[in-house]
Amino acid sequence: MIAIYARQSVERENSVSIETQIDYCKAVLKPHEKQETVKIYKDQGASGSNTDRAGFKEMIKDIKNGSINKVITYKLDRISRSLNDFVGILQIFKENGVEFVSSQEAFDTSSVYGDLILKMLIVFAEFERTSIINRIKDAYSKRSDIGLYMGGRRQYGFNLKDDFINGIQTKILVPNENELQQIVYIFNYYSAKNTSLRSLAKSLNSNNIQPSNGTLWSSSKLSTIIKNPVYVKADFNVYSYYKIKGVKIINNAELFNGTYGARLYGRTTHNSALDDWSDMKLVLGRHKGIINSDIWLKCQLKLDKNKSLGPSVSNKSSYISGNIICGSCGSLMTTVKSPKSDGSFRRYFICPQKSHKKNCCGCDCTIYADDLENFIDKCIYEKLLQIKSNYEKNCALSKTYINQIKLHLKDIQLQQNKLADIVLSSSINKDLLSTLNQKAHVLSLEKSSILNTLKQFKAKKQSDLNSSIYFENWLKADFNQKKAIFQILIKKVIIFKDGTCEIIWNI
Ligand SMILES: [Zn+2]
Repeated sequence: MIAIYARQSVERENSVSIETQIDYCKAVLKPHEKQETVKIYKDQGASGSNTDRAGFKEMIKDIKNGSINKVITYKLDRISRSLNDFVGILQIFKENGVEFVSSQEAFDTSSVYGDLILKMLIVFAEFERTSIINRIKDAYSKRSDIGLYMGGRRQYGFNLKDDFINGIQTKILVPNENELQQIVYIFNYYSAKNTSLRSLAKSLNSNNIQPSNGTLWSSSKLSTIIKNPVYVKADFNVYSYYKIKGVKIINNAELFNGTYGARLYGRTTHNSALDDWSDMKLVLGRHKGIINSDIWLKCQLKLDKNKSLGPSVSNKSSYISGNIICGSCGSLMTTVKSPKSDGSFRRYFICPQKSHKKNCCGCDCTIYADDLENFIDKCIYEKLLQIKSNYEKNCALSKTYINQIKLHLKDIQLQQNKLADIVLSSSINKDLLSTLNQKAHVLSLEKSSILNTLKQFKAKKQSDLNSSIYFENWLKADFNQKKAIFQILIKKVIIFKDGTCEIIWNI
């Protein structure tokens, strides 16, 4: 059976009538096809922007059950105005062995030429699709970088309110006081000693407190809540916690001042088996945090501990381990414990090539972890102190410096305007014009070099500011914070054969 498809849209005046379309289609029937049954499918007043058309749907149904072997249409755009839809439809035709002919365009899928066009259309449609996907991705990344709501379910403890931020329509989190009381209870309960997710769920359920209508609290629901940084008053400790995990942190460290909650974007379930968080990013939110960071972190450490019992112990025995390199062979040195006579342990670093395989002669002396830690502690302290004092000096200097630069920029701007005036007002000969052009070129070079300097200056200032924040935190840092700061500041420490060491700084 041969199908003729005709569509006339309402919105277009003077468009070819359905009857005329059908006549054109009949005209391209081949002689031997004239005996075949021809079924006519029509959509009067239907738009070609989608495929939601009664006649069209009926035709596709007939195609799928195999009763049609050829489709004729007046023009290609009668089938669809969307390239994506069009290609999809042509593929349905192809899968069902249906030829497709347009009476007005030289398009016939049974010819080599038609097949080539089809392939090109598929490429274009693919391009259209991917560029849409990329645009969506870009928009997504921009939205999340400024901490906007990215869709998804409402988070317990907050209601969503429509809002405009930077001209973008979004939703903001507003506290739900009733639920926030439960959130506080959840964190307080779990941070206490000898409590578990299970006992917490039991306690909430027996007090008739529900996460949402008709459901009960479970360990997994609670762990999702506890893991969510949306509740914490995010400060430098929270920053460090995520930094160690390898999470990309969008905001500068100084903004983590214990006021706002944060949002973790990326895969919703990170690979907990590998503890790989590298695809995640953390952004400060625009709502106030609720839980103090010490309580929130206590809960995280408890969750993390439950997850991994054992293997990370040796890694945790020194905050510098993981970055200590054997100077003789380049291997990562590991920490080893040896018992002392009083029952306590002494930790030291050893080259694994020396201890296991005897491939490396390693160090001539024993590298005690305490000694090395103390030494690195001192080095970091001095480095940070130096950066801090530089930063303070630079702050005073930078004001005058930046002002000078800005004056200079203004001057250039004035000269550029003057040049423009000359060009506009005087009758210009060729020589003058070329001189003016040269001058203009020099000015624009000078301007961009100044702007560049300004940019570098600001970047340097920012990194110094970050370092001075590390300094404040170094003095009171615990194990995890020290590890985070150490990893930010130091690339590696090389231990040489004679026991001396070299620190390779990141900054
Ligand atoms: Zn070695």
